Amino acid sequence: MKAKRKLQLMVLASLAIAVLLLILNIFFLFRMGSMQKQIDEIREAKVEKVQKEAVNAASAGNSKNDKQVSEDGESSEKDGEDQSSRTEQPDQADPTAAPTPVPGTKYVYLTFDDGPSDNTERILEILDRYKVKATFFVNGREDAKNIERYKKIAEAGHEIAMHSYSHEYEEVYASTEKFTADLDRIQSLVKRVTGKTPMVYRFPGGSSNRLSVRQLPMQSFVDVLDSRGIAYFDWNVDTTDGEGADRPVETLISEAQKNLGKTDQSVVLMHDAGDHNTTVEALPSIIQSCIDRGLTFDVITAKTPPVHHTLAD
Ligand SMILES: [Zn+2]
Repeated sequence: MKAKRKLQLMVLASLAIAVLLLILNIFFLFRMGSMQKQIDEIREAKVEKVQKEAVNAASAGNSKNDKQVSEDGESSEKDGEDQSSRTEQPDQADPTAAPTPVPGTKYVYLTFDDGPSDNTERILEILDRYKVKATFFVNGREDAKNIERYKKIAEAGHEIAMHSYSHEYEEVYASTEKFTADLDRIQSLVKRVTGKTPMVYRFPGGSSNRLSVRQLPMQSFVDVLDSRGIAYFDWNVDTTDGEGADRPVETLISEAQKNLGKTDQSVVLMHDAGDHNTTVEALPSIIQSCIDRGLTFDVITAKTPPVHHTLAD
């Protein structure tokens, strides 16, 4: 009887030890799993930090370029567009966001101001032929023809940015209230027509404009944009087509070539205007010059490192 009792106790003790070992085993497996998770998290954080530093370094390099932009005031306030074909690390927070610039890569942004116009389709056809994307800094035009043009630009994959609704200096720069009302008007028009809210702006005349009608410093208007998270862009490659319609094609090409690729971000100023036929005629050669220089075409978004003139008082 005593022996049987002893045997029972031994069996029970063995079972207890087995259960204990099993629990310990599960506990260690769990610990190892969470440790691996921690290691992964640390590794991811490091990768993110390195990526951020690379982007910051690129931005710092770009801001140096800002100042060398020619400041051409009213005569050359017109605009252009941009192309994009770069590939980059995707933004994990927003998979649809534009890629950030790759350090060491030279970008060109073709920009067209003042459209849409009777030349919009011709410009789109050339961009399509070269398979490059551009940025159109548009004004407000609500007739049926132009409404279709906003759509065509967006559907072709180009970026639509704002260049004020009215483009009337006296209107746009009369006060921050008038500026804001004009801004709201062009932003809601583009959103209504394309479904996408534009977040990039180019000042009529550029941020360096010395327009006599303007009483407030440009900083007042930049503050309005800042408060809404809207980025503004100037240019650093001026084709000089803003100096008037019918500038010779050769002049536009040679002016563009002067500064193309001199910095990491070439922002080319051109105009989408009905009377600017020579801009359209010069466009293929300007695109070819970018290709010959090995530049990467991209569009301007709110995430693009800024290219600014010296802000006018
Ligand atoms: Zn303009």
